[in-house]
Amino acid sequence: MEKKALLRELPSVDEGLKSPLGEDWLGKYPRRYVLAAIRHVIDERRRLILEGASDMEVSLEAMAPEIEGMAEKLSSFSLRPVINATGIVVHTNLGRSVLSARAIENIKKVSEGYCNLEYDIEAGKRGKRYAHIKRLLKDVTGAEDGIALNNNAGAVLLALSTIAKGKEAIVSRGELIEIGGSFRIPDVMAASGAILREVGATNKTHLRDYERAIGENTALILKVHRSNYSIKGFTSEVSVGDLAALGRRRGIPVMYDLGSGCLIDLRPFGIQTEPSVREIIEAGPDIVTFSGDKLLGGPQAGIIVGRQGIIEKLQANPLLRALRIDKLTLAALEATLMDYIDEEKARREIPTLRMLLERPEKIKDRAKRVALLIKRVVKKALIEVVEDVSFAGGGALPDVALKTYAVSVRPKLISVNVLEERLRKGAPHVIARITDSALLLDMRTVGEGELKPLAGALMAALA
Ligand SMILES: *Cc1c(COP(=O)(O)O)cnc(C)c1O
Repeated sequence: MEKKALLRELPSVDEGLKSPLGEDWLGKYPRRYVLAAIRHVIDERRRLILEGASDMEVSLEAMAPEIEGMAEKLSSFSLRPVINATGIVVHTNLGRSVLSARAIENIKKVSEGYCNLEYDIEAGKRGKRYAHIKRLLKDVTGAEDGIALNNNAGAVLLALSTIAKGKEAIVSRGELIEIGGSFRIPDVMAASGAILREVGATNKTHLRDYERAIGENTALILKVHRSNYSIKGFTSEVSVGDLAALGRRRGIPVMYDLGSGCLIDLRPFGIQTEPSVREIIEAGPDIVTFSGDKLLGGPQAGIIVGRQGIIEKLQANPLLRALRIDKLTLAALEATLMDYIDEEKARREIPTLRMLLERPEKIKDRAKRVALLIKRVVKKALIEVVEDVSFAGGGALPDVALKTYAVSVRPKLISVNVLEERLRKGAPHVIARITDSALLLDMRTVGEGELKPLAGALMAALA
């Protein structure tokens, strides 16, 4: 058809809106997005016609799939669930920890109506939001006092700003770390107003290095967990216990930024490298900071526990107002901490711990079931259950390789990369790993309820 005829045939936005198709879309999507989608697709067709395209269908029916696709995309949420088949338990890009059933239920309960967030029911007057978790934090860590705020980066910032603003904080060169998302210890220090006093060498720092660096302007000795890396070979670092003793001798507070922070003893489960927060508190530092959503398995939060005098000073810093925890997070955190009162319950009920400590045979069982579900119908790929390793993630336990099982998929008609992309963009979205010529679905992080949706997504991606 020639240009003019095509342009004449092109429906108007109004015609599109008033057509039966338009009515159907208006029933499903907001008017504003239906309008935007119709306008966009028509404009696009007009542009192509003017550029000389001639063999084109320009009826509303022909454009309908595009219009509907766009209206649907505009109307759907950006933040959505995904199936994590990477095997990385605390995956920062995938939302870190999955909340326990109790935490989710408590968020709902507390936010459906009003709550006593800053109201003391006993006294009938204003209360503190931090009061709700103080006792639990003491009970699960053994510390004198504790507060929770927005995240651990905020916890470190608040502590440095309160204790060492305009003064020196001594840190080992081997601990000046960067973790993901541009959190660097030297940068956070600069932001807090504390002056960084580096001591030791990258591989070795001795107690005497700290001791020599202490001067008139020293306000803090800071120890930082290396989190996502480890150094091996000719190395030494000073234990938190020795630093705490030095701090006491010289009258200088000692802080330990633990990063992940684990509330249970992992040694009975073969993980030797991560002492519990309780053990660290027993070693005597003045304050310890850690995340709510790493190994703890709760919501995004920063937790500070330690000496009451310091925690009270932190609460008086106006910066805390900018970093304060909200009621939804507090509800989830209180419920998660309550599960830790009974450690066995914590291991069973908190998904992060459950996935981390699950027996490989149970993971293998899930892998077998997914493989079985798809093998029967899919002939277009080689599917097997393979042994592999997964990691805790979230800057925790970088040296601990956990034995796991994965469903390995080698497609015959498409490349592994195409399969990966289809799974990622599919419904539900599945995030997987690629190794040489196979796609690996690590079943450590795939729950019972996700097996069928995962198998469905795989079959769709291979079809
Ligand atoms: C993860 C981490 C942080 C930051 O914690 P967020 O909860 O991500 O804010 C700070 N310090 C260390 C050592 C960490 O591992």
